[in-house]
Amino acid sequence: MSSTERTDVLVIGSGFGGAVTAYHLAAGGAKVVVLERGPWLTGEEFDHDFKLGSSYTRVFDFVVGDGMSLLGGNCVGGGSVVYFAAMPRAPRFAFERHGGIGRRMWPAAISRDTLDPWYDRVSEALPVTRQTWDDVSYAAGLFGAACSHAGRTANPVPVAIDTALCTNCNWMMAGCRFDAKRSLLLNYLPAAVAHGAEIRPLHEVQRLSRTDDGDYRVHYDTIDAEDYRISTGSGTIDARIVVLAAGAGATPMILQRSEATLGPMPHAVGRYFSGNGERLNTAVVDEERAHELFGLSRPDGRVYAANQIGRGPAVASWDDLDGTKPEYSRFSLEQLYFPPGLGTILAQTPDPTGATWFGPRKKELLRRWPSWLTIFAMTEDDNEGVFGPPPPTGNAYRISQQMLGRGTLSYRPTANTLRGWAASDAEIKRIMERDGLSTVLPWTNDVVGAYTVHPLASCRLGDDPATSALDDRHELRGHPGVFVTDGSAVPGALTVNPALTIAALAERAVPGIVRAARERGVAVTYGAPGPGGETSGRAATARAAATLFERPGHDGRVITSPGETG
Ligand SMILES: Cc1cc2nc3c(=O)[nH]c(=O)nc-3n(C[C@H](O)[C@H](O)[C@H](O)COP(=O)(O)OP(=O)(O)OC[C@H]3O[C@@H](n4cnc5c(N)ncnc54)[C@H](O)[C@@H]3O)c2cc1C
Repeated sequence: MSSTERTDVLVIGSGFGGAVTAYHLAAGGAKVVVLERGPWLTGEEFDHDFKLGSSYTRVFDFVVGDGMSLLGGNCVGGGSVVYFAAMPRAPRFAFERHGGIGRRMWPAAISRDTLDPWYDRVSEALPVTRQTWDDVSYAAGLFGAACSHAGRTANPVPVAIDTALCTNCNWMMAGCRFDAKRSLLLNYLPAAVAHGAEIRPLHEVQRLSRTDDGDYRVHYDTIDAEDYRISTGSGTIDARIVVLAAGAGATPMILQRSEATLGPMPHAVGRYFSGNGERLNTAVVDEERAHELFGLSRPDGRVYAANQIGRGPAVASWDDLDGTKPEYSRFSLEQLYFPPGLGTILAQTPDPTGATWFGPRKKELLRRWPSWLTIFAMTEDDNEGVFGPPPPTGNAYRISQQMLGRGTLSYRPTANTLRGWAASDAEIKRIMERDGLSTVLPWTNDVVGAYTVHPLASCRLGDDPATSALDDRHELRGHPGVFVTDGSAVPGALTVNPALTIAALAERAVPGIVRAARERGVAVTYGAPGPGGETSGRAATARAAATLFERPGHDGRVITSPGETG
C-alpha cells in the first residue's frame, strides 16, 4: 500500500492561471491542492526597500536568458503581487494574428467576441475599473499632454486598483501594503481557501509521472524560506487532474522534465515563446520646456520632477492598435514607473562610441532621475523564443539566494520583431522629443539583451497539433487530464498587458477541466459565482460553458449537464 497523499486536482502555481482554476474547482466541490514555489506574504509584510531579504527580493524571480531575460512573480499570488495592475483587454486583431505560421494562431473557438464574456467575469471579480484623468499621476498626465501635443490620443488605462485606498507610493512592485492593488491575495485565492483548497508555499514542482491506476503523480521539493537554492525535503501527491500554471517561463520546464516518465510531449512545449514584444524607453524631461509647452507647475514651484510619485502605468496611447495596419507594425505605448534600482539598469547614455553605462554623462543622467518619464511599448514579436533542455530543478540554475537565476531561453529577434521595436522607438522619440520636451534614451539590446515581464506562448493553444501544445480546452495534447492555464497558453503577443487575457482564458478553461474531472470520477460541479459572490457576469458565459462542457471528450463520451449549482 502506498502512503502517497491523494487529491482530486493538483494546481501548480498560484498566479492568474492557478488561482482562477483553483477557486472554481474548489467551489465546485473538488479537493484541490495548490503547490507554489514562493513564500506566502500579506499586506504588512510588503517592504518599502530594496535590501536583500526584503519583499522585493523574496517575491521576484529574475531569470537571465540568452538574448532575453524574464522577470516574474515568485510567491503566493504570482505575478499579481508584483504587477502594476493595468488590465486592458486584447484588441480584436490580436486574436486574428498569423505570426510566423501563415494561418491564424488562435484556435477557431476563441476570438475577442467569444472571450468578452469571460473578460467580464474576471473584471467583475477583481474588480477592474476605469480611471479618470483626475486619478492619474503627474507622469501619466505629462505623457497624455505630450501625446496630445504630437497629435495622438491617450487614455487612462483600466486597472485592478482601488484608487480610493491608493497612496501613490509607487512601491507596488514590492507588493501593496495598503491592499489597494487588487491582487489575487484579495479575491480568488482566499475564496479558494474558503472552499477548502490548500495552498502550500515553498513547494516547487519538478516533474509529473503516472500511477498504476492512471492518475498523475506530482513530484515536488520543499524550498528553504531564505535561501531558495536549498531544498529542505521532497514529496509526491497523486491527482486525478493536474493544472499547470507555473508561468510561461516555468511550465515548459516541468513538462520537458516529465517526458522521461509521461512519454513524448507535443513539439510546441518550450517553443514559440513570446516576450509580448516589450521595450522600454527612458525620456529625460526638460522641466523648463514642460512649463513653456504645457503651462505645468506644481504647488511647491516645481514643474514636473515627479517620476517617483504615483503608480504603475496610468495612461496609454492606443492609436497604433489599428487592425488595418500590417502585422508587426501595431503597438501600444504606456507611461510606466520603474523604481530606482531597476532604473539604473535602464539608464544608458549615448556617446560617440554608442550607449554607455559609465562616465560623467551617466552621472548627470542619474542626478536628473526625478525628471525621467519611462514609456513601455508592447509590440508584435515573432514567437522566436526556444527553451533548451531543462535545468535539474525549477526553471533556472539559481545564482543567488533569492531572485536571480540563469535560464535556458534562447531568443534571437527576427527582422519582424526588430521592425516592431524600431517603429515603437521612433514613435516614442517623435512624441517625447517634440519641441525639445525631453531627450529619449532608447533601450539597447547590446548591453543586457531584451527582457520581458510578460512571458507568453511556451505551451500554446491552437488547432494545429504541429504548432500548438494545447487543444482549445487547454488540455495538453496526448496527455489527457493535464491542463495548462497560465500565460504559456496564450498563442502570441497581445500588444497590451496580458494578465486580464490570461485570467479570462483560465475562466473559460474551467468547464472543460470540470468535465475531465467528472469523467475521472471526481464529484465536482461547475457554476460557482465569482469569488466575492458576483453573479452578473455568469449569464453570458453559461451558454459558452455548456458548449465547452458538452463537446465529446477525448474518449468520445458526451456529458450533457455541467451540473450547475444554481
Ligand atoms: C513588474 C511586473 C509588472 C507587471 N505589470 C503588469 C500589468 O500591469 N498588467 C498585466 O496585465 N500584467 C503585468 N505583469 C505581468 C503579469 O504579472 C503576468 O502576465 C501574469 O502574472 C502571468 O500569470 P500566469 O498565471 O501566467 O503566471 P504567474 O502569475 O507568473 O504565476 C506563476 C506562479 O507559479 C509559481 N511557480 C513557478 N514555478 C513553479 C514550480 N515549479 N512549482 C510551483 N510553483 C511554481 C511562481 O512562483 C508563480 O507564483 C507584470 C509583471 C511584472 C513582473
